[in-house]
Amino acid sequence: MTKEINTIDPSMGSAVDECARKFYFRYVRGVTPIWEPDYFISGRAWDAMLGEWRKDGTPSKRYVAAISAMQAVYDTCRCEFFNERRTPENLTALFARYIEWEEFQQKYKVLGSNLGFRFPYKDFFLGGELDAFLEWPPYGVVVDENKTTTVIPESKGWPRYEDGFSLGRYANQITHYLWACMQISEEVWGTRALIACLDIPKRPTTQRTLFQPLWLKRTQAQILDYLDLCEARMRKIRDCQARGVWPKEGQHCTGGWGFSRCEYAPLCQLPIHLEDIEVPLNLYRVGEPWAPWDGVKSSADIGEGKEEV
Ligand code: SF4
Repeated sequence: MTKEINTIDPSMGSAVDECARKFYFRYVRGVTPIWEPDYFISGRAWDAMLGEWRKDGTPSKRYVAAISAMQAVYDTCRCEFFNERRTPENLTALFARYIEWEEFQQKYKVLGSNLGFRFPYKDFFLGGELDAFLEWPPYGVVVDENKTTTVIPESKGWPRYEDGFSLGRYANQITHYLWACMQISEEVWGTRALIACLDIPKRPTTQRTLFQPLWLKRTQAQILDYLDLCEARMRKIRDCQARGVWPKEGQHCTGGWGFSRCEYAPLCQLPIHLEDIEVPLNLYRVGEPWAPWDGVKSSADIGEGKEEV
């Protein structure tokens, strides 16, 4: 009998939408591939860097802390090959450009960064980790989301990427963190998703937008739609757990546009029943916890949230 799952975050939600078996491997058994893709590492490192940079202290102290937080991510990661845009050197160069860019932006006050939260909704919890939330006159409280991409903002692919924040893979994530912030503050205006483009031009003469803020709001109806989705996801998880059955849904096994092959395909290809699968330890780790809400304690952590929007 496995421990009952009663908290859900956007990653868990996407996994259970894609395939119950995938959810089982990752979030019930804690199975993760030995090797992590480089885009996970560079994204995590960029978050860590900005998290330190947004803390109190002199710019030089914050700079040193940001670089060492980024380096710590690379030192402890499980990845052997990095695309040149995802290396520590490229992130350091991007960070220097970010500091210059930030100088010319409207000023805001950081109310908190890298905050773990877990708030009740009906009979379960929504959890996660907020990148940051800001007091930003004249808007009010703004949720800040860090994103890195190799899509160049001026390119043809950009509109499609941007669309993903209102009607695609990032849309639910944005709503999730906005709802969480609304449990902390009555003054939430919306979200700034700050997109950092990893493609720094090699020639100094090439002009490129490297930081592109996307300003995103959500209506009450959109938030309620999202909460309905969370409830449906939780019902699916509980149903699978109660029956001890995690169907192979098979729609995302081989990947497709923007998606890679499912990392659990080698396990699903074994011609045996789930209970008889012994996870090969040369390919996977087992028992890896997933609880981003436990990571960083803060005033935003459990207990003080409202029950519903
Ligand atoms: S390989 Fe296919 S069936 Fe197996 S976990 Fe992945 S998506 Fe599900």
